[in-house]
Amino acid sequence: MSFTLHGIGVSSGIAIGRAHLVSHAQLEVAHLEIPADQVLFEQARFDDALNKVRKELSDLATHIPDNAPAEFEAFLNVHLMILGDETLSEAPKAMIAAQRCNAEWALKQQMEALLEQFDQIDDAYLRERKTDVKQVVERVLGALMTGAPAALSVVPPEEGSILVAHDLSPADVILYKQHRFASFITDLGGTTSHTAIVARSLGIPSIVALHHARRLVRENETLIVDGAHGVLIVDPDETVLEEYRLRRHEWELDQQKLRRLTTTRAAVLDGTRIELHANIELSDDVHQARENGAAGVGLFRTEFLYLNRRDLPGEDEQFEAYRTAVTAMGRLPVTIRTFDLGADKELDGAERVAPNPALGLRAIRLCLAEPQMFHRQLRAILRASAFGRVKILIPMLSSMTELRQSLLAVAEAKASLDRDGIAYDHEVPVGGMVEVPAAALSLGMFTRKLDFLSIGTNDLIQYTLAIDRTDESVAHLYDPLHPAVLNLVASIIQTANKAGTPVAVCGEMAGDVSLTRLLLGFGLRQFSMHPANLLAVKQVVLKTDLDEVTVLAKRMLKTDDPEKLHSLLLKMNAL
Ligand code: PEP
Ligand code: MG
Repeated sequence: MSFTLHGIGVSSGIAIGRAHLVSHAQLEVAHLEIPADQVLFEQARFDDALNKVRKELSDLATHIPDNAPAEFEAFLNVHLMILGDETLSEAPKAMIAAQRCNAEWALKQQMEALLEQFDQIDDAYLRERKTDVKQVVERVLGALMTGAPAALSVVPPEEGSILVAHDLSPADVILYKQHRFASFITDLGGTTSHTAIVARSLGIPSIVALHHARRLVRENETLIVDGAHGVLIVDPDETVLEEYRLRRHEWELDQQKLRRLTTTRAAVLDGTRIELHANIELSDDVHQARENGAAGVGLFRTEFLYLNRRDLPGEDEQFEAYRTAVTAMGRLPVTIRTFDLGADKELDGAERVAPNPALGLRAIRLCLAEPQMFHRQLRAILRASAFGRVKILIPMLSSMTELRQSLLAVAEAKASLDRDGIAYDHEVPVGGMVEVPAAALSLGMFTRKLDFLSIGTNDLIQYTLAIDRTDESVAHLYDPLHPAVLNLVASIIQTANKAGTPVAVCGEMAGDVSLTRLLLGFGLRQFSMHPANLLAVKQVVLKTDLDEVTVLAKRMLKTDDPEKLHSLLLKMNAL
């Protein structure tokens, strides 16, 4: 019987194929009492299982396929770190001796103790680590119970099948990638989950948060995955199949056509130049940026250098990472944002858990609270500026004090390089992100003191509408078309344009083709987005009449009726 499930689409495209179900070891284990003379044997059995899993993960880490995304290695390291945590590696052995219980039971009890600690923490990034803990324990249980690793004992399925799992660990995905799946779908996960991150970087159509797909779908059943809309169709009839084959074909043709635009100059119909830049997380992402014809890097989210590790990156390590990106971009600009840690991107082992992380010690607030860490990064960025066109971008500015302190920190970093006789670009532009309503509403002080601005719409929407962007339960309220958001964004662009301060949008709005014309109508001339969206946005730009969209954009700012707003947007996009 055919039915449809809805989840969160994390990577666009359409896949049609047969379901391949993946089972994980069950976390339900029996409690057995063991005789005293078996304690040592049970402890040794536990150690063997641990060593086996450690070896599997290390082997995976040394055989990462060339085409695997850079994050894979970090994910494996997180699992190895969890495996080495005393709560999981030592405490179960003490428990086996003290309670004379079986190894599986001891491990499960320790896992629950660890998860309880995670439960006290209200932080999306750490919640994702909870999933990692479960995945690691599943793996050890698999080794204990069957002698085989949990999810990796999958029989290689036929090429082009669709992987259906309750949850997937990044380590699993590495292996599955080699099997050339057409898509994967999971019950769990959110847009910030590892599965979503991996799916995006692999470019396979995927859906997460389907809730019951693993239970409802049967092995070999035909599935349609519409990654753009988060729709899964199970056992479709021939008419629906035909429709989606056609859509898939059209999507592939569109992708091919788009590739022809790589070297086309991005300009609207009257010839006005529009700059389309790329957002990157790691230095290696610059290759994807170049392949998609980016005119520069508009946002380098450097905090990813700080995540999934116990130590902090030193100045030299950071310098190498920035220099790699800068030299790979040649003469094109690279906008390096100082670390935006805190909120959902917490450092491993952070001692203090903020009661409300998105409103806490985050981004520039943390940079200024950790002057040495900030100084190290600024020196590294400045050193990289000697190798290309670097711009420094400060996240989440909200007051004149922060602005002054940030500029002072840049001046101090420059002075220390001068003292050391190290070369850097003395004219390196310093810009600020506008992502807090306070900054948007007092923009004059930012345009006067900064060389450029970049609007972080992801946070600007979060803070304007008071919606935690990482909380799935309020995700439906996250609305870029809310009149307050539209008016704020439009006024930032207008004020910056009047002041002659270059302004870009680098939040997700910039990569959303349905909003490209609206932003152009507001006067935006520079966009920065995930490289995969660049060519589709360029295609819209090339067909846009600025005068027409400007008139409609003004009309949109005058209405607060959501239906009217949507119909005006449709009209604009149909021009
Ligand atoms: C934003 O807030 O829109 C932005 C680009 O920064 P991030 O998504 O990294 O917070
Ligand atoms: Mg932001």
